[in-house]
Amino acid sequence: MASAFSLPQEVTDTSPRLALRALSKSMGEHRAVNGIDLAISPGELVVLLGPSGCGKTTTLRMVAGFIQPDAGEIHLNGRLAASPRYMLPPEKRQLGMMFQNYAIWPHKSVFNNVAYGLQIAGEKAEFIRQRVNRMLEIVNLTGYAGRKPADLSGGQQQRVALARALVTEPSLLLLDEPLSNLDAAMRQVMRTELKALQERVGVTMLHVTHDQEEALVLADRIVVMNAGRIEQVGTPQQIWQQPQSRFVASFIGKANILNGKVVEVDAFRPRVRVEVAGGLRFWARTDEQSSLTCWLGQQRSVVIRPQHFRQHPDGVELPVVKSVFLGNHYDVTLLLEGEPLSAEFGDAPAPAGKVKVVVEDDRAWVLP
Ligand code: ATP
Repeated sequence: MASAFSLPQEVTDTSPRLALRALSKSMGEHRAVNGIDLAISPGELVVLLGPSGCGKTTTLRMVAGFIQPDAGEIHLNGRLAASPRYMLPPEKRQLGMMFQNYAIWPHKSVFNNVAYGLQIAGEKAEFIRQRVNRMLEIVNLTGYAGRKPADLSGGQQQRVALARALVTEPSLLLLDEPLSNLDAAMRQVMRTELKALQERVGVTMLHVTHDQEEALVLADRIVVMNAGRIEQVGTPQQIWQQPQSRFVASFIGKANILNGKVVEVDAFRPRVRVEVAGGLRFWARTDEQSSLTCWLGQQRSVVIRPQHFRQHPDGVELPVVKSVFLGNHYDVTLLLEGEPLSAEFGDAPAPAGKVKVVVEDDRAWVLP
């Protein structure tokens, strides 16, 4: 414990923008957030991803200062912001926020919507004018300053909300499903814009979503949450290619998770050859640790993505249950010893009846 004589914590550029330490919160009877640890560096875009009810919003609301943790600590820029005994008020946390119901004020012009945070901070008119115009330029709304929100498209309104959240140059921007009000096409456009904007402005972001594609496109790092806990933290590539649990493998993208028997261990690379039902044999990647602890004959869970299958004349013959054309590939359901298997074939439709398939080497993944 810190003594009464300890020096105050210094804010340095190396302090994480945000650090969560053993953070917990119960909502009613329910442990909404159950002991999570996370550090976000300056300039990072971190996405909290997980199914409905896993505790994403509760985490964000604790960071924002709307609710107090039951246990653990929140540090912003190296200083304590919240614990069960201490609460820095939201307005002192130097945060920008953009939530699902981002409601911009309908009676105010675009300019005044964006200017609001600076006006209540008592900034001078000329400073406000310059800063707001710069912000409108950044979100591609130059020339819209005099309009009312009703005269803007959904995507433009979203950008006004974003400009409003960024104008005070927050040390951390919190976003809770900010794109969920938009239709699918607009969401894709805004997703790309948000990423480009973040790279241009360099603001640190904590973004909450249950949309895995949004997370993969936006994130420097993804935090996968499940039932109040963190399942895995990693880059989009790590989360996709090296899931650390069954939950992560099946939550992000489609995955076939099969039992495989280890039939060969590579002494030089972290990989093992496995045999799954139907006699399918292939090399699957493992983490460094697993490759040392795998032994011949051991049963392991193997994650095979639909893209890892290929049609091949020497392959194992499997019945085709269904084949759906999806533009750039065929989404095919095969049957492996009575169990459905999801496969994707880019080049040709699976012929009706049966198909011979292999699993490509070094693509499937052995769960730790
Ligand atoms: P969603 O994606 O649906 O918003 P989430 O991951 O953000 O979900 P939270 O809103 O953080 O999840 O909720 C976590 C858990 O806490 C859920 O089981 C929820 O039912 C519960 N919870 C949240 N707010 C309250 C509340 N005010 N009272 C009681 N339980 C609550």
